[in-house]
Amino acid sequence: MQGIAASDGIAIGPAFRYAVPDLTIPIRPIEQPNIELARFQIAQEQARLELHSLRENVASRTQGDDLAAIFDAHEMMLDDPTLADKVTSQIQEGIIVEQAVADATQELAAMLAGMADEYFAARAADVQDVGRRLLRILLGLPDTALSNLQVPSIIIARDLTPSDTAKLDPDLVLGFCTAFGGLTSHSAILARTLGLPAIVGLGSETVETIKTGDMLLMDGATGALILAPDEATITRYRKTKQEKESRLLIIKASAQNEARTADGRRVEVAANIGEEETAREAVEYGAEGVGLLRTEFLYLNETHAPDEEKQYRIYKAIFEIMGQRPVIIRTLDIGGDKPPSYMPFPQEMNPFLGWRAIRMCLEETSLFQTQLRAILRAAIGHNVRVMFPMIIDLDELRCARNFIAQTEAELRREGVAFAEHVPVGIMVETPAAAVLTDILADAADFFSLGTNDLTQYTLAVDRGNEKVAALYQPLHPAVLRLIKRTIDSAHQKGKWVGMCGELAGMPKAIPILLGMGLDEFSMASRSIPLAKHLIRKLSDAQAAQIAEHALSLSSAIDIEEYMKSILVELGI
Ligand code: PEP
Ligand code: MG
Repeated sequence: MQGIAASDGIAIGPAFRYAVPDLTIPIRPIEQPNIELARFQIAQEQARLELHSLRENVASRTQGDDLAAIFDAHEMMLDDPTLADKVTSQIQEGIIVEQAVADATQELAAMLAGMADEYFAARAADVQDVGRRLLRILLGLPDTALSNLQVPSIIIARDLTPSDTAKLDPDLVLGFCTAFGGLTSHSAILARTLGLPAIVGLGSETVETIKTGDMLLMDGATGALILAPDEATITRYRKTKQEKESRLLIIKASAQNEARTADGRRVEVAANIGEEETAREAVEYGAEGVGLLRTEFLYLNETHAPDEEKQYRIYKAIFEIMGQRPVIIRTLDIGGDKPPSYMPFPQEMNPFLGWRAIRMCLEETSLFQTQLRAILRAAIGHNVRVMFPMIIDLDELRCARNFIAQTEAELRREGVAFAEHVPVGIMVETPAAAVLTDILADAADFFSLGTNDLTQYTLAVDRGNEKVAALYQPLHPAVLRLIKRTIDSAHQKGKWVGMCGELAGMPKAIPILLGMGLDEFSMASRSIPLAKHLIRKLSDAQAAQIAEHALSLSSAIDIEEYMKSILVELGI
């Protein structure tokens, strides 16, 4: 089976089919109330057994008790008399048990979510989880949650959302394969961050043929997925896997050294990170800074927008891990495609062209200012830069900068300490910004090319839609020309340009970008050792010549072919 090669690596092991169960409440006549009630009690007992075994399983695998404690909390909620009372009274009113469970847990969750105390508010999600478990049992469906994984497996799913993957235990996941998604979809980026092999865009039909327990072999470098591989194939791939891993180990040993071209020109290699854990990894893999700190994780999967103190604490912890290394923190970049539950996002025909990122922040002013206050306060004593996403013109950039000036004035007035003169830059991820870099340079201290969106918007190809995944070509001549134009215009204005889109970490693109004079490459931490190794192999003249030749080619296929030959020549 063939999908899109999304994250390098070979995995061999059993499949684990992950599917979100269909919890539609059936339409059926009500039975005797005591029968409905008995079904509730049986479901409660079954849920108790499931939670107990999950708890035991987690406790035996992890040292910390944090995760195990979640299942304890779920068990307590399950036995909470308020829940049983609500379900009983609904049943007595003539409502079937499935509906009664859904209503009762929804009501309890809404009550918790409304509490001012953050701890209780966060428990709303737990009650909902318990409700879904009971409903699933009542509907006679198996537990396919990822928290259920017991043996190291290859995850097979239609798609993986951020909340699905937050529950992943990396020790039990060998890799993942999804029906949907493209190279820069959430699951692909996550796989590269975790260093797990991934194949995306396999298509629903292919994924439907795989069952939990089926033996699989996946090659994340080519996108090949083999069902029931024979011994000879397994042996061959095992050998390749070992060779690859030992080569990477050797390369990793020199990752802490600076990246310099063969002529000694210094190029900064930084990491894209999301939270504390990935910051530590960035340091381990030789990141010289953070080229993109995505702050979305703080806002999604929550029942409330994070308050200033919470953000301050989290940003501070990350800045401290990075010490004096530069950290570019991006302001909130969310939209209607994945709205958080607590924000009123309109239903949009084209959420990727809609009310998102900086557009939303400029209107939701208190949300924006809370984030800016937390960033400026946490930045004291660190080398922090602020970056705005999705900017399309100078007015928008000036408006966003004004919010920083206002926030600074407010903090000064209140006598609250904050970092002064924090550099402010923008993502170049719309064709408009790429074309207007010279004008934007009047108000931007630096630029960072976001090629994930720049490719999507330049080619009019949805980055997450596997139907058009073949058209999603970051090495398309149109994208390359916009990248070149951005770098040249910024340099003419004396401004620095980095890249934090996925392209920056791809060996096939690095020689071209180096030749165009890109100042900083920011990527998933695990891609850093190989990127540095490659940069060291190239002289400036050689890279410039590769860039010039690539730019002269007329199609993405020709550029890909050309770069393949260059990498072979370089022994990569
Ligand atoms: C990009 O668009 O290239 C980028 C880095 O941002 P994100 O992937 O978060 O949209
Ligand atoms: Mg983007």
